[in-house]
Amino acid sequence: MPVELKNEHYPLYINGKWIETKERTEVKNKYTNETFATMGLASSTDVDSAISSARKTFDTEKRLSPYKRYEILKKAADLLLEEKDELAKIITMEVGKPYKDSLVEVERAAQTIEISAEEAKRIHGEGIPVEASPGSENRMAFTIRVPVGVVCAITPFNVPLNLVAHKIAPALAAGNTVVLKPAEKTPIIAAKFVQILERAGLPAGYLNMISGPGSVIGELLIQDPRINLYTFTGSPSVGLKIKNGIGLRKASLELGSNSAVIVHDDADLEKAAALCAGKSFANAGQVCISVQRIYVHRSVEEEFLAKLKAATDKLVVGDPFSTNTDIGPMISEQEAQRAEDWVNEAVEQGAKLVTGGRREGSLYYPTILSQTKADMKVICEEVFAPIVSVIAYDTLDEAYSLVNQSKYGLQAGIFTSSLNIAMEAAKKIHTGGLMINDASQYRADQMPYGGVKESGWGKEGPKYAIEEMTEERIVVINL
Ligand code: NAD
Repeated sequence: MPVELKNEHYPLYINGKWIETKERTEVKNKYTNETFATMGLASSTDVDSAISSARKTFDTEKRLSPYKRYEILKKAADLLLEEKDELAKIITMEVGKPYKDSLVEVERAAQTIEISAEEAKRIHGEGIPVEASPGSENRMAFTIRVPVGVVCAITPFNVPLNLVAHKIAPALAAGNTVVLKPAEKTPIIAAKFVQILERAGLPAGYLNMISGPGSVIGELLIQDPRINLYTFTGSPSVGLKIKNGIGLRKASLELGSNSAVIVHDDADLEKAAALCAGKSFANAGQVCISVQRIYVHRSVEEEFLAKLKAATDKLVVGDPFSTNTDIGPMISEQEAQRAEDWVNEAVEQGAKLVTGGRREGSLYYPTILSQTKADMKVICEEVFAPIVSVIAYDTLDEAYSLVNQSKYGLQAGIFTSSLNIAMEAAKKIHTGGLMINDASQYRADQMPYGGVKESGWGKEGPKYAIEEMTEERIVVINL
């Protein structure tokens, strides 16, 4: 497949202008390691200008009407689909994600933006019967939802378009202005999205984009009191820094996990194995809800493991632009090296390597471990690599307790043919979501999405993100 993008440069976007910077960063193709584009590197003055623009626009410009916001976002979703092939190429180059999966990411991003556009037309409050209180008989009340103001969006590398869409589109739909800082390894697709929003008619100042390392730019953003709300997706350690740095201002934090799946003895093992293989290793395991721990009933452990291994060994690892590739490179060789180290450490501590455990540069082959222990890194930390462990259990209560024995809680899955067991699991498993007869890694873009414990605070999904990004105000009339 021809890739025409070569050495293009993308400046910052501040107050409706594309701003050249003194310094630039090179963005590499994660498979070939060649530089394919450069991105402007923001200085502290650029960060200040971006926040000033968003603040001034929110405070002084006439608000865009809900219908205008709908029109702009709807047009942006349409443009995204028109340019699907080119956008997918950029994602594949920047992330190393297989091209077929990058196409799905663009389609999903268009959905996220379209749903946000629709939500812009139905942001509403409710009537409150204050007249029911003695002494308030002559009063009437209702609530309205108003935008919080300036939203700062900080995004990760692994889903670099749809996760930007999940922040920018609801923020604009709700009537806020935005400062976006995409991940430094994947800023180009974010810049393309900003170009599309500009072409869709978004006026100057409503969206500003700066780029650079989180340790510098991110810190400047955290400290700036002109920002009203932070919407962050990324690692738990950075999420904690944001939470600790912003005082009483609001934040939505979508963080990591070590997601678990239960395969009970009454499950369709063929289906469970196929779905677990697909959803443990997609995007080289670099998905926040990737399957990392599979708890399988001891009576079916051997059969399930054989089916999982067979499905895994069919996966094709290699060039992400090749049409039959299922698993491309990890985001860097350093990350693949870390994955290798964690597997080697687990094996030294007594785990059994069922398949995989092989690395070629930044490619890490899909790896299954068994006989792992709860305190091994591959179990208790977020692995964020194509590695899954299979662990036997005897009773369902033991399985629930193992799933819940985690500092994280984003999503989980259970395979069972019993409705009663599925409903019991929905009550007993402590995560933000439970997938029944599916692996943990399922997301439709309109659903409420977010974790408990160290997986974060707040929900995404346009309707729910808009709730986070608006304030509820009570209005009382004394008749
Ligand atoms: P990361 O935390 O390293 O980086 C995320 C963003 O934070 C980047 O833009 C980075 O520049 C910025 N950043 C880094 N240091 C910062 C600081 N001190 N202050 C402010 N910003 C800073 O994460 P990553 O490696 O890009 O992504 C992987 C992580 O994201 C994993 O933990 C994964 O589980 C998580 N993730 C979560 C979800 C979810 O929806 N819950 C989705 C995707 C990824």
